[in-house]
Amino acid sequence: MRPTNATVSLSALRANALLARRLAANSKMAAVVKANAYGHGAARCARALSDVADIFAVACIDEALELREAGVTEPVLLLEGHFSPQELALSEAHDFWLMLHSEQQIQQLLNFRAQQTLTVWLKVDTGMHRLGLAPAAANAAYQQLGHCKHVNQPIVIATHFASADHRNTEPTARQITQLSAFNAGKQAPVSLSNSAAILAHTAAHGDWVRPGIMLYGSSPLEYSHPYANELRAVMSFRSAVIAIRDIAKGESVGYGASWRADRPSRIATIAAGYGDGYPRAAVSGTPVLVNGRTAPLCGRVSMDMITVDVSDCPDVRIGSPVELWGNHLPVSTVAEHAGTIAYELLTRMPGRVPLQYEY
Ligand SMILES: *Cc1c(COP(=O)(O)O)cnc(C)c1O
Repeated sequence: MRPTNATVSLSALRANALLARRLAANSKMAAVVKANAYGHGAARCARALSDVADIFAVACIDEALELREAGVTEPVLLLEGHFSPQELALSEAHDFWLMLHSEQQIQQLLNFRAQQTLTVWLKVDTGMHRLGLAPAAANAAYQQLGHCKHVNQPIVIATHFASADHRNTEPTARQITQLSAFNAGKQAPVSLSNSAAILAHTAAHGDWVRPGIMLYGSSPLEYSHPYANELRAVMSFRSAVIAIRDIAKGESVGYGASWRADRPSRIATIAAGYGDGYPRAAVSGTPVLVNGRTAPLCGRVSMDMITVDVSDCPDVRIGSPVELWGNHLPVSTVAEHAGTIAYELLTRMPGRVPLQYEY
């Protein structure tokens, strides 16, 4: 059997969720499991978090229905609300909560002939300028929704940060101030924090937090932080050495001969490539753990394989274990070497790589 797989530690997932709970001790938690739980398997992750999270959050109704089919009974928040009036009926039937971000959605909801009440959050644009109503429009919408018989009260007021992961905290502080100003006199429950804000912006915890990437053990912060250091990697992407060769100084390795040996070198070939979710953009020098030791990627990433310079790693053999990212090598480090972020590498893991769950 091909030795390439991704192990998902459900105990690490739970530990990370408990860390979010501890940091935002007075807030409820909407655990974000969109994009197949950032590539970790939405149903399995949601079930493992059912006693830690209050509700789950996803990007669209198909993801919410998948959770219901898997037996998840908690409310599920649709982070972009409904995409059509038909989805309102499904949301009503399945207890999906709607994050309303547009006038159109609000009109559709007000016109909806509901059998029961629906739970909605209202998204206010405080500076991200992607989704949400500007404060004046949001005020009018809040009043209308407040008078709507089929909308549960109170309505949660939500916003999303553009730069909570940055060292400069000023833009986030401004967004927090904007939301407080909007909520003055309303005293509505609020939700602001993604993972970065849970870790680094205590003032933003509010009534509901929405952790995503931190549940999976990766820190979104662009700087090191003591809480982020407590996160445990959930996915370990592993493979093994399938070939070894010694090459002379001056020989090249891989497609396009992009890497050349500047000394006699030992090259290990590993059975994972971009077809397995390892980023093709990863440059020579990207760390790979072979037998628990760091070795540099050399040459281009192929579809099914990578090549690594193991000249300085003793005892590398065919079958030696390899960690591409995981416990000992943060996925964010690999992402940096590929000009991207951990979110992208995790969410685009292909079905070709089997997920194996452990506790
Ligand atoms: C994806 C998402 C989150 C989670 O963000 P992380 O950075 O992964 O913690 C929170 N809120 C909204 C609205 C989202 O779309």
